[in-house]
Amino acid sequence: MSTETNILVDQFGRKHDYLRISLTERCNLRCTYCMPAEGIALRPREQFMRTEEIFSIAQTFVKLGVKKIRLTGGEPFVRKDAGAVIEMLSTLPIELSISTNGILIDQHIERLKACGVKSVNVSLDSLKQGRMLAITRRDYFERIMRNIQLLLDEGFDVKINCVVTKGVNDDEVIDFIEWTKEAPVHVRFIEFMPFDGNEWDWSKGVSLDEILKRTSAHFGPFGFERIEDRPNDTSKNYRLTDGKGTFAIISTVTNPFCDSCNRIRLTADGKLKNCLFSNSESDLLSAMRKGEDILPLIQSSIQNKKAVRSGMESFDDFANPEEHGKNRKMVSIGG
Ligand code: SAM
Ligand code: SF4
Repeated sequence: MSTETNILVDQFGRKHDYLRISLTERCNLRCTYCMPAEGIALRPREQFMRTEEIFSIAQTFVKLGVKKIRLTGGEPFVRKDAGAVIEMLSTLPIELSISTNGILIDQHIERLKACGVKSVNVSLDSLKQGRMLAITRRDYFERIMRNIQLLLDEGFDVKINCVVTKGVNDDEVIDFIEWTKEAPVHVRFIEFMPFDGNEWDWSKGVSLDEILKRTSAHFGPFGFERIEDRPNDTSKNYRLTDGKGTFAIISTVTNPFCDSCNRIRLTADGKLKNCLFSNSESDLLSAMRKGEDILPLIQSSIQNKKAVRSGMESFDDFANPEEHGKNRKMVSIGG
């Protein structure tokens, strides 16, 4: 067992005990930073993991030492058997959580509770209906807000993911933080990241420093405080001194947190990605379908993981459009 446990430790000593599984590439929104307006080309169903295949691969990772699994996508609840996947995975000795746009989650509340899911991440980029329509290209604002309230009322730990872009929603940073005064929500501002086809340009991005500067100008330097990060946290966490909730900044662009990374990703078509930004993938699903052992594939993927952002150590490398073009679109990675 000890050699198996070591499979998840890379050459820099990072232990990868957190697996993010994408349930589908499809989505009921078209967020501009994630997906093209026309959606992405649909592929035959056989190319994607079936429920039992997801379970079998997850089981292998749990035996190797994975302690936490997050379901993501695309939009995980767009998958018809999302409920069955959640039920199966909940039988494993893991912390199970989910990232969603919140549109369909009201249909799954009892199941999530029964399956021990305590934490839900919901994407929300604006507190204004018209803006959400412009950013997501669909009009589900009221439903999403209603479902966020439902999750809070039902006692879930709710994290709100907000991608901040200049001239689009950056004037709402203070409003989002004000929200944490009265509601026990955890707002996480995410720096805009580059992926294939999302027309990334850092002049549209808003940095950790900029958000902190605005927060300090509005609330004063003593109006908010830094909270201790948990091990492997990707965010720098803060709280208003009188706040019920918290806020945080995920600064992959300006302050990458790769040295404590414990994440690996399984795409909906069964490919293992050792980094959000890696363009090399290990095809676990095809190997499993051929009856082959997937452990050597997992091991080499982990061993080949680069120290920082899949080798894009400098900002110039990271900002190079040729590099983003080699990766997938975010919606088909599983963020
Ligand atoms: N559909 C679900 C949702 O929206 O939460 C799960 C999948 S989505 C790809 C996961 C997260 O990735 C969301 O919080 C979304 O805001 C974030 N995301 C997508 N594209 C991004 C980008 N270009 N930069 C930063 N975050 C991004
Ligand atoms: Fe869909 Fe989530 Fe991407 Fe928005 S961020 S298009 S909700 S997968």
